[in-house]
Amino acid sequence: MKVSRREWLRLGSMAGMGVGLSSAASKATPAAAQTSANHRAAPQQKWGMGVDPGQSLPPEATNGPWRNLRAVKERKVFDVHCHAYAARVQGHNYKEEGELHAISKWQDYTNELIAAMDRHGIAQAAMNSAHETYETVVSTDVTPHLDRFVRSSGMPTNDSKGKDLTPQMVAEIYRTHLERDGCVLIGETAGDAFTSLLRQKKYTAKDLKPMADVVMKHDVPVQMHTGWSATVVRSYQAAWHWAEDVGAVLAEYPDIKFILGHTGGERATPDGWEAVRLAFSFDNAYVDTSKSPAEIVSEVVRGIGAERVMFGSDWNRPEILGYGPFHTRAVYQHWYNLNTIANADLTDDQRDWILHKSARKLLKLPQA
Ligand SMILES: [Zn+2]
Repeated sequence: MKVSRREWLRLGSMAGMGVGLSSAASKATPAAAQTSANHRAAPQQKWGMGVDPGQSLPPEATNGPWRNLRAVKERKVFDVHCHAYAARVQGHNYKEEGELHAISKWQDYTNELIAAMDRHGIAQAAMNSAHETYETVVSTDVTPHLDRFVRSSGMPTNDSKGKDLTPQMVAEIYRTHLERDGCVLIGETAGDAFTSLLRQKKYTAKDLKPMADVVMKHDVPVQMHTGWSATVVRSYQAAWHWAEDVGAVLAEYPDIKFILGHTGGERATPDGWEAVRLAFSFDNAYVDTSKSPAEIVSEVVRGIGAERVMFGSDWNRPEILGYGPFHTRAVYQHWYNLNTIANADLTDDQRDWILHKSARKLLKLPQA
């Protein structure tokens, strides 16, 4: 997941944008909840529109090849990409989902996340704030569980919410998160500032130097969302558009290690292959495998080796997605993303790198 570009921009200059949607949204909530309740009792079609999320899991969810992964059995997996807050009720289409998001009532799923990590052999994860503020996520969810999570810089923050963000402001946010809080990573929602500011056309990649300087001083990686996702369709972008923005940033700052979140995402063509091109074009490109198809993971490892590839889930809620393409609603689940690593054309040693060694090395954490 990521905060949609629209939401990200809303953290800046468009603070009042959601207000007009609120009354429609409050009407939509009971309807959506009702649909969900009705479908719980009714016979269900696998992956069908409106099927209560989490109630139609395929056999590979509980008994898939992920169970045989060495790192899972040894409970050593490190997840470099997850979130713990989402809307309590999901919509069953983009319109409903947009209205529910506009209400901004976020549910804390940290306990469910830890339970899911336990079930899937995931020792630790880089937790990234989304929707709820960075300060709340770090103090309420990450700090009490430092045996399970590492801190990553994220957005929104209490101070920047509703303000027009500039490279200087983002640089100060990074500095605070790195120096005061000991973040080991500029996580997705904070790293997305690189591409979101570029996309506004007010700034060039060179203008982002204040942000880059802080990152280089602390020598931490920067994670950015890449590719199509059912959660970002409202700010629709062709694959080559996002790829060019990411390429501009990678070229301008060769000393920063950028993690291309999702390796282009759930669609191999075109987004996954755009991410592969980027990974093959820049020495400072790293990727996380959250939502990626196995063919993309196989290819990227073939080209740049497993040490620049790391496991991610983009987990953000216990249930599968309630909207978006029927057949890919489970892409945020741990088992789905672990099955990808099991099904990709890899050796067991390469799988170990992807599942824990690469991220621990890049984040300068002790190996498991
Ligand atoms: Zn995400």
